[in-house]
Amino acid sequence: MKAVVFTKDNELKLVDNYEKPVLQKGEALVKVTLAGICNTDYEITKGYMGYVGVLGHEAVGVVVDVNSEDKSLIGKRVVPEISYGCKEPSCPWCAEKLYRHCPNRHTLGIFHKDGVFAEYFTMPTEVLFEVPDNVSDEQAVFVEPLAAALEITEQHHIKPFEKVIVLGDGKLGLITALALNAQNIDVTLVGKHKNKLDIASAQGVQTALLNEFKIEKIYDVVVEATGSISGFETALALTKPRGTLVLKSTVAASKEFNLAPIVIDEITVLGSRCGQFPAALRLLKSGKIDFSPLISAVYSVDDAIEGFEKNKEKETLKVLLKF
Ligand SMILES: [Zn+2]
Ligand SMILES: [Zn+2]
Repeated sequence: MKAVVFTKDNELKLVDNYEKPVLQKGEALVKVTLAGICNTDYEITKGYMGYVGVLGHEAVGVVVDVNSEDKSLIGKRVVPEISYGCKEPSCPWCAEKLYRHCPNRHTLGIFHKDGVFAEYFTMPTEVLFEVPDNVSDEQAVFVEPLAAALEITEQHHIKPFEKVIVLGDGKLGLITALALNAQNIDVTLVGKHKNKLDIASAQGVQTALLNEFKIEKIYDVVVEATGSISGFETALALTKPRGTLVLKSTVAASKEFNLAPIVIDEITVLGSRCGQFPAALRLLKSGKIDFSPLISAVYSVDDAIEGFEKNKEKETLKVLLKF
């Protein structure tokens, strides 16, 4: 089968004859229809996680086979959770279905599991979620980053009168702002690119250009989504005393920065990564968010390498691969 592979020689390649995955007990075989390139995929091609194998963790597809008694998933359109756990009875994370925190987890296209940039992938049935009929493939493929955005409200209760800033208007910031806004939270997206901010404001999100925005410590919750040290510093300068600073991007900590304000202002710093899919699918079903303006380009899997190049461009938001 066709697959986009990162090789042990650190090469990104489209392979025509990659071996089709063999179904293990409890797994489903999924035929991919649409997949999304994520910055994590790009990071892997630079050596992140030391991963070798099929890339990709954002996809929608159709179940074609199941290795278990219950065959009800066959023919269903599904999205895969990014990880599955060890399912050992003694594992407290798996007991709570928090597979993404299981210390022995497998993560699609990132850790010990071939990813979704291939004609087929396998995943345990309990981490495959059916896509509601009224949600198109183009919307469903955003479920993973949307679930990650909803993780913020799973971790931290934002009160109705609180003011929230999302800093950074890349796809992470845009998706986070759209998700918070759809939950009726008073959120303002602050960024440097008017064209990107316009995508959010067209869907009812308050927006502001960074250079026109007054930096003051008055916001209850500030979400850092820029991925830069200067963004982290600005986010800290916006968080009010006793407020919460949510770190969404994995800031490359290669520069020294001053943590004293966190102590002086008693800021709560919250690391936030992946979230639960059922909530994200419910939100997609409601139609409150339209992700299509975030799609910069759709490539056939045959042009996947070109798609990766496109993903590197600064102006690009989401690049999709069609199978
Ligand atoms: Zn991703
Ligand atoms: Zn486990």
